[in-house]
Amino acid sequence: MLPTVEKDTVVLQEAQRLYGLLANVSKTKAEKWTLADCLAAAPYTLAINRIKKEKKAVILAHSYTTPDLVYGVADFRGDSYELALKARESLAEVIVFAGVWFMAETAKILNPSKQVLIPAGKAGCTLADSMTGLQVQALRAKHPGVPAMCYINSSAEVKAACDVCVTSGNVFDIAQKMPGNELIFVPDMLMAENIEAELKRRGTPKKIISSGGSCCVHDKYRPADVEQLRLKYPGIKVVAHPECAPEVCRLCDYVGSTKGMVSYVASSSDKVFGMLTELGLVNRLEAEQPDKQFVWPFGMCSYMKKNSLINTLQALAEPRPEQQVSVDGIIAAQAKKSIEKMFELAI
Ligand code: SF4
Repeated sequence: MLPTVEKDTVVLQEAQRLYGLLANVSKTKAEKWTLADCLAAAPYTLAINRIKKEKKAVILAHSYTTPDLVYGVADFRGDSYELALKARESLAEVIVFAGVWFMAETAKILNPSKQVLIPAGKAGCTLADSMTGLQVQALRAKHPGVPAMCYINSSAEVKAACDVCVTSGNVFDIAQKMPGNELIFVPDMLMAENIEAELKRRGTPKKIISSGGSCCVHDKYRPADVEQLRLKYPGIKVVAHPECAPEVCRLCDYVGSTKGMVSYVASSSDKVFGMLTELGLVNRLEAEQPDKQFVWPFGMCSYMKKNSLINTLQALAEPRPEQQVSVDGIIAAQAKKSIEKMFELAI
């Protein structure tokens, strides 16, 4: 469905508003957002913001989605943890989650009476798709009595099969709080290695038993990427996500969640940062901290980029079945326990 044609002056004003936010933001490795891009986006942002009010909807956008969504129409932007909290407390009648499927599923589990929509439909994630609930049960059966922790980037079934869920912002602290000397962690095998290394560094070692896969964006980085950044930009601070491989994380100045990276950059007096993460987070930093320079070996999540202004408008107006999120009641109740346990332990 195309948006209603807006009066030219209103569209121009909206385009100028967007350009004021996005002028410093990279669209690709070589291009910034232009006024022409913003003029093309403006009729959609106007229509989405109008229909959002009519339907008493709230839009949550993950930082890895495109900046026209993040700054044009989102009521809240952030990482999985921040957006899960917003979904849980939302009083809106409709929650539109611009992200990937497991995130929208988490919103539905935390606030089941709301209609939850995801513009990108069944957008996957190489981590969430790497393991099933049955596989977790089989792993637990092999290691009886060992507590099981899952990354939030997992399906509702996997969350339901675990004792507690974590995000990249609280994974190390919650792993440390779990009882015993062994811990099952799924489905990020690289993050599992990072947990083992961090707990050893903290003097509270545990054996981490892991299975699953990796993030197709963050597992591409290699130690050579860090070395090249340091050679090309002497004095650069290199920042990584804990979904990167441990041999990469070891070479970086800071390793943390998307929220942690934003705070690290904001509190630093340094000016040049190498970002081993997804383009969307670099975009947020370019928009919000324009006095700093960001360089990054290119990383883009094709799943997150399936969300667009066009399918957000269409989902709000006439959602297709695959854009409407539902979770089996028994699975949802079990998964909720593991997510609520995270909120309890994250304090
Ligand atoms: S960036 Fe990686 S972990 Fe995040 S949604 Fe994409 S594939 Fe999944």
